[in-house]
Amino acid sequence: MSKILTSDKTLKKAFSNATKNTSKRISWGRKAQLVKCKGTKEECARIKDIAERLSKSDFAKNSLEIAYKAGYSISFAEGMEDTAGVCNPSTKSITLSANDSDEQNIATLAHELRHAVQFTNGMGARIDLHNIKTQIMMNRAMEADAESCAGISAWELKEKGDEKPWEIFSKESPLIANAIEEDLEKNNSSMNSENAKKSVLTKAFKAWYKNKNLRAAYEKNHVDNLLFLKEKELLGRLPLNQNIDPEDIINGICVLPNGEKYFKDDAKLISSRNYLSVNLSTHTSFKKIMQERFTLYGLEPDKTIDELPVTRPTVSYNKLPSNKKTSENIQKKQSSVFLSSISLKERQEQSASIIKMKRLTKIIKSKIVSSNFSAR
Ligand SMILES: [Zn+2]
Repeated sequence: MSKILTSDKTLKKAFSNATKNTSKRISWGRKAQLVKCKGTKEECARIKDIAERLSKSDFAKNSLEIAYKAGYSISFAEGMEDTAGVCNPSTKSITLSANDSDEQNIATLAHELRHAVQFTNGMGARIDLHNIKTQIMMNRAMEADAESCAGISAWELKEKGDEKPWEIFSKESPLIANAIEEDLEKNNSSMNSENAKKSVLTKAFKAWYKNKNLRAAYEKNHVDNLLFLKEKELLGRLPLNQNIDPEDIINGICVLPNGEKYFKDDAKLISSRNYLSVNLSTHTSFKKIMQERFTLYGLEPDKTIDELPVTRPTVSYNKLPSNKKTSENIQKKQSSVFLSSISLKERQEQSASIIKMKRLTKIIKSKIVSSNFSAR
């Protein structure tokens, strides 16, 4: 019997809330769980099966409970073939892809639930009010944390004999999976102690930042969001001036179910060059958008953009013959230099992230319009 089963009293309350909140298509079916789903009877049954399986991980069970109490509903969406999942704090909804396998959706749900926990803890729901440097630090920390927690959840399932979600997770996020395996091996432990969890999560969190392509995908997503806001004439309404220090970002995001901080390193790490740098093209786009914002609304450009370390093309621009001085050539050279210097594990991660990049692009083109949602 699942530990997520709750008392009749709570259940009754849960059921009446669920029927109050949604006019139709809520079904609780045979298994009582702390899951509010939206969709057809079949979809709800499938969501509950996925949540039931995921709840065997204590870590994920805690996220399920927090998201449920905060009022999040889970549903499937059509036309999400290339999109793994979305967590939207303004509609309190988590969306999974009906076309993905249950095992894939277990990993996705663990990731999206963690975003729900982050939002519930007051982190990131209005990321768009902050200066760009804070937005970058916050967004990366949220994604690093969500994917690390998904990894921990998949590992816990593996330890309980449900191995497929870990298999899928390892293929999608090999750097993080590797960090988890290596750390557990080194310390010769399972994840039973809080100390072991802290160590594993710190390593996994840091591993997320090594995936340059995934970072580039989120940077593109960020620029696209700003362009979208500009197009909708909303850019002038955002102050883009609130600041959060690395310590507060880490303290707010990197927390264990018991409330303790898991991040064992100095929080300032996320504002260091390797963790904060953006690609030259991203930096150029940020500057351009701020200039246009100034022209349109007279709002001073966000100065924190100048504090972002910039990853420049690795070949010297000046040494190229003048007819080769195109950004395309530099880009090509840069990526070939880059690819030859990375390990096999990293290459696997790069190709996995290309799939994720496609997902992100798809989200931009889809009907989801809030700039505050967090897409996997
Ligand atoms: Zn995410």
